[in-house]
Amino acid sequence: MTDFAITRNERPAADSVREGVLAEPGFGKHFTDHMVSIDWTVDEGWHGHRVEPYGPLQMDPASAVLHYGQEIFEGMKAYRRADGSVWTFRPEENAKRMQRSAARLALPELSVDDFVESVRQLVRIDEAWVPAGGENSLYLRPFMIANEVFLGVRAAQTVRFMVIASPAGPYFAGGVKPVSIWLSREYNRAGKGGTGAAKCGGNYAASLLPTQQAAANGCAQVLFLNEAGTELEELGGMNVVLVRADGTLITPDSDSILDGITRNSLLELAADAGHRVERRPVTLAEWRDGIADGSITEVFACGTAAVLTPIAALKSPDETIGDPGAPAGPVAMALRQRLTDIQYGRAEDPHGWMVQL
Ligand code: PMP
Repeated sequence: MTDFAITRNERPAADSVREGVLAEPGFGKHFTDHMVSIDWTVDEGWHGHRVEPYGPLQMDPASAVLHYGQEIFEGMKAYRRADGSVWTFRPEENAKRMQRSAARLALPELSVDDFVESVRQLVRIDEAWVPAGGENSLYLRPFMIANEVFLGVRAAQTVRFMVIASPAGPYFAGGVKPVSIWLSREYNRAGKGGTGAAKCGGNYAASLLPTQQAAANGCAQVLFLNEAGTELEELGGMNVVLVRADGTLITPDSDSILDGITRNSLLELAADAGHRVERRPVTLAEWRDGIADGSITEVFACGTAAVLTPIAALKSPDETIGDPGAPAGPVAMALRQRLTDIQYGRAEDPHGWMVQL
């Protein structure tokens, strides 16, 4: 294991400031006292593993990432249990997904060990920032940027990996509420051979305009279809799952969506509970017809931030599929409870997913 050089923050946030943040963390607004960095160059490989005070980066305006968007990231959480211990969920899966994202964006792969150790170092030094209670967590944001000072369009030869952390409150402050989703007819998120399966900043930049349109139509998120406009892909930041009346769970199998760790975990828990699980192309017509004839009883979205969000209705300029006032379905809510019980240590962890930090 590589050693991390540690430089402690001599001016950490005052206890009263930190406690104020933890009392009402919101999302992504407040950051902890430290950050992790590891540098990479073609000649030296990964080096300079370190924990430092959190603060602004000094960047040359000609840094490649600022021009060509050669950037990838991950999103995961640290959870505090009732006994005070701090755990994270399947960090090796995030590490491996970041390696796959790196391969697609011509960035260097960081080892799973270095990834997980980076997260551990940051959470240990900033442990006081991990909120307790409810569905609070410390959101962890590993990311990698091309910081070579060069305007030629080619893979950068100088790269930095970093981890920052931000306390996060419950996604649903007033209890889980089903949402309406906007169907983007005009825009795609990804195409065949594109970067849809990678967690790169550009995918999210491309989703902002359709997400504004979703908001303008009273919807929380946008659903993207495939290029042909026939099959479901995913939401701007979540995967989608349909539940049939016979208990079967169906989810899109596509090489242009993000391989969600929450989705994989929920589907494994569903299989444990005796549900059939199908990963295959899912058409929009199947959703529409299934709601109309009662064979689709629930639809939900899932991802690290909200865990699981029931989808009451899918809206588009021409139609609304489902009932925007529909309550949350029992299959979705049971799966959500099961997964959050494991994550917060309230239930046994049969798959060994939790890692103590
Ligand atoms: N799809 C997209 C586009 C996402 O941004 C996310 C969130 N990372 C997901 C799906 C869900 O992935 P996960 O369950 O690993 O958070």
